[in-house]
Amino acid sequence: MPTVRELTALYENFLLGPRPGEGVCVTCFNLTDGYRRCYACTRSEAWLDAFAPVSYSPAHEQLHHVLACYKRVTGERARRSAAELAAILWRYVSAHEQCVAQAAGAEFFPLVTTVPSADPARDDSHPLRRIVGELVGVTRERHRRLLRPSAMALEPRAFSPRRFEALGRLSGEAVLLIDDTWTTGANAQSAAATLKAAGAGPVGAVVIGRHINRQWRENDRRLSAIPQPFDWARCVLCARRR
Ligand SMILES: [Zn+2]
Ligand SMILES: [Zn+2]
Repeated sequence: MPTVRELTALYENFLLGPRPGEGVCVTCFNLTDGYRRCYACTRSEAWLDAFAPVSYSPAHEQLHHVLACYKRVTGERARRSAAELAAILWRYVSAHEQCVAQAAGAEFFPLVTTVPSADPARDDSHPLRRIVGELVGVTRERHRRLLRPSAMALEPRAFSPRRFEALGRLSGEAVLLIDDTWTTGANAQSAAATLKAAGAGPVGAVVIGRHINRQWRENDRRLSAIPQPFDWARCVLCARRR
């Protein structure tokens, strides 16, 4: 069995760790034209108490491809991509969960859950739940399925507190929410809104890829300036403290 280090080594040459700063959205770390919040975040509601994307995921590049495909492939390819994504989450969460908890105002996260697929048929066999609930050693003991997609027909990629339904009541526990991709943030923010309505305490989120368009404005130059290989010792929340 390959180790977490071996599985993640493949990704070190293309993961692009976001860093806060001028022209970087304070909510989702999208690159902006100098604004504090990106356009999508100004249109969404902000229910997450903290958010940490592992990497930018430029459209049509390697990470985007893995994150788009792992849910569709089967057999050995599915097993391999699930193992690789689990390794990324394992390594990142074990190093930076405390950074997310601190930013969210929680001591720790007693519960870990995933953002459901918006499509109920797909959500039943969502491989992300198996990754977080079975493969990732640092999350599997705390994983619970807390949300399911609601049956309402809603505009995709728009925030709605009715996009998901809670599967039970919570009593103030802090929740770590995990997703594969952040595009507009509507799904993660909608999931956080539902968790809070169900009684959750602070909600922090980790996603693997923060989707980005390399062709927009100065994005190519700015993404190319991110140092490589990927630094596992720093996340977007603790990078500044060191
Ligand atoms: Zn944003
Ligand atoms: Zn950190």
